[in-house]
Amino acid sequence: MPTEAIPVWVGLGSNLGKPIAQIQRALAELADLPDTRLLRHSSLFRSPPMGPQDQPDFINAVALLETTLDAQALLRFLKQIEQLHERETTRHWGERTLDLDLLVYGASIVDEPGLTVPHPGIPQRAFVLYPLVEISPELEVPGFGPVTALLAALPLHAVARRLEDPE
Ligand code: AMP
Repeated sequence: MPTEAIPVWVGLGSNLGKPIAQIQRALAELADLPDTRLLRHSSLFRSPPMGPQDQPDFINAVALLETTLDAQALLRFLKQIEQLHERETTRHWGERTLDLDLLVYGASIVDEPGLTVPHPGIPQRAFVLYPLVEISPELEVPGFGPVTALLAALPLHAVARRLEDPE
């Protein structure tokens, strides 16, 4: 277990069972994890589904934590929180009550069975990059570069909207 607290970014997504409430509850559960503090979190964003299009839009957010848990232990806790939300695995990239992704774990680059960090989907995902840039515009994603450059490189159609912004 690391002795120093490591900054960690976690992505949250939901498109089933009152998604806004699912995300708010998950943020409180992240704040309650052992050896971990929730430093801040993004606004809630709405984005179209990846994969099958016959499912509701997703609500997404990103949380910045500080933890002394190692990455595998943190991922186990993230999976426990998903289970608390009665997550059922349906089809690949299908609808879900809660999805938690370990996006960035300090400066670490991890490629182990069951854990790839930074999360390899970051550069393609508007619903990760918009909230990441909102809370951590200075972040450099290890192996991928500055979040602002990743956001600027997204295709024009790839957007995620803050819930409080006008349509
Ligand atoms: P998902 O359906 O996106 O929740 O994928 C879950 C699976 O991806 C789990 O079995 C994890 O072990 C694996 N996985 C690998 N890397 C990560 C990561 N950085 N964050 C979350 N899950 C991961």
